[in-house]
Amino acid sequence: MAAEDNAPDIEALLRMAAARALEFRQALPERAHTPAASYAEMCARLDGLTPEHGQPGTEVIAALDDAAQPGLNAMAGPRFFGWVIGGSHPVGVAADWLTGAWGQNAGNHIASPAAAAAETVAAKWLLDILQLPPACSVGFVTGATMASFVALAAARGAVLRRVGWDVEANGLFGAPPIKVLIGDDAHTTVFSALQYLGLGHDRVVRVAADETGCMRPAAFAAAAAAVTGPAIAITQAGQINTGAFDRFPEILSSAHARGMWVHVDGAFGLWARACPATAHLAAGVEGADSWSVDGHKWLQVPFDSGYAIVRDVDAHRRAMTTAASYLPAAAEDERDPVHYVPELSRRARGFATWAMLRALGREGIAAMVARHCAIARRMATLLAEQSGVALLNDVVLNQAILRFGADRPDAEGDSLTEAVIARVQAGKECFVGGARWRGRWVMRISVIGGATTMADGERAAAAISAAWRDASEARALPPRPLGTRQGTVFPGPP
Ligand SMILES: *Cc1c(COP(=O)(O)O)cnc(C)c1O
Repeated sequence: MAAEDNAPDIEALLRMAAARALEFRQALPERAHTPAASYAEMCARLDGLTPEHGQPGTEVIAALDDAAQPGLNAMAGPRFFGWVIGGSHPVGVAADWLTGAWGQNAGNHIASPAAAAAETVAAKWLLDILQLPPACSVGFVTGATMASFVALAAARGAVLRRVGWDVEANGLFGAPPIKVLIGDDAHTTVFSALQYLGLGHDRVVRVAADETGCMRPAAFAAAAAAVTGPAIAITQAGQINTGAFDRFPEILSSAHARGMWVHVDGAFGLWARACPATAHLAAGVEGADSWSVDGHKWLQVPFDSGYAIVRDVDAHRRAMTTAASYLPAAAEDERDPVHYVPELSRRARGFATWAMLRALGREGIAAMVARHCAIARRMATLLAEQSGVALLNDVVLNQAILRFGADRPDAEGDSLTEAVIARVQAGKECFVGGARWRGRWVMRISVIGGATTMADGERAAAAISAAWRDASEARALPPRPLGTRQGTVFPGPP
């Protein structure tokens, strides 16, 4: 092998990487669910002078693993409930290894027929499992943020084309203005997508939301009634804090009556459709014009994996298409991945999705979604039974938000809730985060990791309860007698 590029002993290198990865994964269930080292410590561990001379690959990979370990988070661990983060399922990881090893540039179907075909087939299966129209186009992107960017680019082009403006050719300067209606509790990344597209994150009509974070249909109807020109409505399947769903049938009918394009941010929540017990939550969503959904959340595909799904295939392609004389053009029945995403050269993202859909199957996805929802309800119920703890949402899906010191004045409850989160994180038994909800600080629990079992949920609830007892004792605030259930807004389902 060529010494000049440090061509490694490939067998030693890949076996070592596999052995180290295996060791990490096998230790995950009992690994501390909080990183041991801080960012500053990790910068110091990974730093050094700019490498001048190459180093043998096995040394590099050993050094990387040794240096990175203390700063890794157990995001794929069974008791990770912070943010909405999937568990990088072992089958997805293995498919990703092959993808990397194969070194395919996924841009077009002649360059890599396998990569293009995996996307075509995985797209068909995704649409079937999500019960979306089978003729939709699917772009394999890095996540829901980029999925919203792609879908809203298609929306922008389509609504302007209807009034005679070609935004892909002529840009936005001088174009008729587009009105964007969006729920007041929409996910922050949708505003990012609007920002990238020149639609402006502040140039929107924010529609009032109810206590669950859903758009109020009457408020939406009133806002839609004022629409005259090109317009886009952005809805949500699965609110990031409460897991709640917009009322699609009502919103779709007011929006479509005005010729609006309706986009759905369903990063995790769209998977509710794959489970008979939760499918009703997203009923009617199939009537929308585009959808964002993640593979790296509920489907457990490793990062980066998201899907931009668009009903109007032509609008999708016009918004994203890349063409050049040296890039072979696809025939009608040949799908080139590049036409549905912003990038030309990229990883062959279809393989890991194809593998996860095979590994779980429709039934496995349904069972996992149902299990996660049951665990979320159980954790919420166990915690809300503690005096001074309030559950602030109806746990319709996999998300629970809790307030500690709920019977105390707001500032005290904020600081107690923060203290409990800090104690849970310091305890490392499980990981939860916080957020501001309706002006108050809350603990967020997202049950979405493929490895999480009911026993993990109960173990985490015990750790959180202990942290609450410690935090309230430390503040010399004796817990109220059991059974008074101060401040519980929603009692939680049985
Ligand atoms: C996670 C999430 C996003 C952003 O998805 P990424 O995959 O992180 O880009 C958007 N919307 C909702 C509701 C989410 O939960």
